[in-house]
Amino acid sequence: MTKYILGIDSGTTSVRSFVIDESAAVIGFGQQEITQHYPRPGWIEHDPKQILGTQLEVMRAALRDAGVQPSDISAAGITNQRETAVVWEKSTGEPIYNAVVWSSRQTVPVVEKWVEQGLGDLIQERTGLIPDAYYSASKIRWILDRVNGAQERAERGELLAGTIDTWLIWNMTDGQSFVTDVSNGSRTMMMNLQTLDWDDELLGHYGIPRHMLAKIVPSDANFGDLEPTFGASITIGSDLGDQQAGLFGQAAFEQGQCKMTYGTAGVLNINCGQSPQRITGLTPSVGWTVQGKTAYEIEGVLFAQGKTMQWLRDDLQLIHAAPDSEWYAGQVKSTDGVYLVPAFTGLSAPTWDPYARAAIIGISNATTRLHIIRAAVESMVYQTRDMVEAATADGSVTIPELRIDGGAVKNNLLCQMQADILGIPVIRPKNHEATIFGAMLLAGLSTGIYGSLDDLSNMWSVERVFEPQISTDEADGLYAGWVAARELTKGWTKKLPQHD
Ligand code: ADP
Repeated sequence: MTKYILGIDSGTTSVRSFVIDESAAVIGFGQQEITQHYPRPGWIEHDPKQILGTQLEVMRAALRDAGVQPSDISAAGITNQRETAVVWEKSTGEPIYNAVVWSSRQTVPVVEKWVEQGLGDLIQERTGLIPDAYYSASKIRWILDRVNGAQERAERGELLAGTIDTWLIWNMTDGQSFVTDVSNGSRTMMMNLQTLDWDDELLGHYGIPRHMLAKIVPSDANFGDLEPTFGASITIGSDLGDQQAGLFGQAAFEQGQCKMTYGTAGVLNINCGQSPQRITGLTPSVGWTVQGKTAYEIEGVLFAQGKTMQWLRDDLQLIHAAPDSEWYAGQVKSTDGVYLVPAFTGLSAPTWDPYARAAIIGISNATTRLHIIRAAVESMVYQTRDMVEAATADGSVTIPELRIDGGAVKNNLLCQMQADILGIPVIRPKNHEATIFGAMLLAGLSTGIYGSLDDLSNMWSVERVFEPQISTDEADGLYAGWVAARELTKGWTKKLPQHD
């Protein structure tokens, strides 16, 4: 009998669901947008009940699309937007406030206060993370402060808190499973990177009672049964944060294997084996615990990758659609010394300068829009090299090849330039849906549909390999120009006269 796996992907802008058969062929799909709430500038919130409701709808839609019944499904796997936090009532399941989204800056003052109290080093030592409002801890603290009486209720055991995986699993199992996995835990700023459990000392400083928080389990644990939701027993066999699921879906199971996602933002994840690596400018997290072994990862986020194409399209109106960038950029052999540094909201990994602003430099009378568009595409490539340089600087990590995914990898010129500038093969797999496939394949592994990680590696296949076509000297020369341009953008807003 064919075995089917249900994928649950709770993203930031939309929720999706896939049904695959055991050969990993997609037979059903559902997707819906979720509403972004912006109560104030810089604040971003989601309605947790809408996330749950739309997720259930797209799961049912995927089953209908596949023409299968819940009883035909052998396992389910979940992946989710990370860090976003929800606090809800244990007895009713009612959230006490909206979900505070990972990118929201509303909890910056909470983190600033912790840093002022001298907690910065402790946080970094225990969690590996540089204190920031991205991570869940300050969001939970903020909700407990914001809602009248919430702290007392939390202490009395009346409230639960968690990331989106925990919220969905708790609801879909009718409150029977209150769990999260190590990959999600590592992005909360509450989990100890060594013990893979909540860090009691940090929780004490944050004033977050431990009993509010879910149990942290391996990524291939039994996360509960969807029986209360579907009336048929379906084991949830995996839970992974989205970027870690992407790394897993790229079959990057060995130390040094990595993936780069070229979406609106860009994310590099490198499997760094069985102990955490600390690398300046990049973030250590847990990749997963699977079959009893923990794979740590390092991660770097670029604020503007495909975003730069959107800017060319929507604001400069130099292109009609992002894919046009490939044709325009290919009309000139080089940018003739023009560099575009897309530090629109500051420089992200590995440089981290919130005061930097974007720049186009090197413009001459001969510069045309073709050069600017090419420089924009090249910026995606140089920023990736910045992160690879940081990761490999002390020699503890070597990166033999780069596996790529995300919306922009259809751009062949981008992929070729990436191989040229890094001097390593860039590999585009057949399946561009690494994230949800990572979760589904892990669910298949943990429930015995697949026998081993090797089986999963064999299911990952290459569509195209981009080999470097320029010399190392040429690549280093072009990159040196980028570094010079990038350095010029640093600290820009601090150089401007102050306005009242
Ligand atoms: P996300 O999941 O972050 O919304 P996607 O993975 O769907 O993003 O990728 C969309 C991003 O990729 C957009 O920012 C878009 O500008 C960019 N993009 C899409 N196609 C191309 C292309 N052919 N060349 C360059 N950038 C592209």
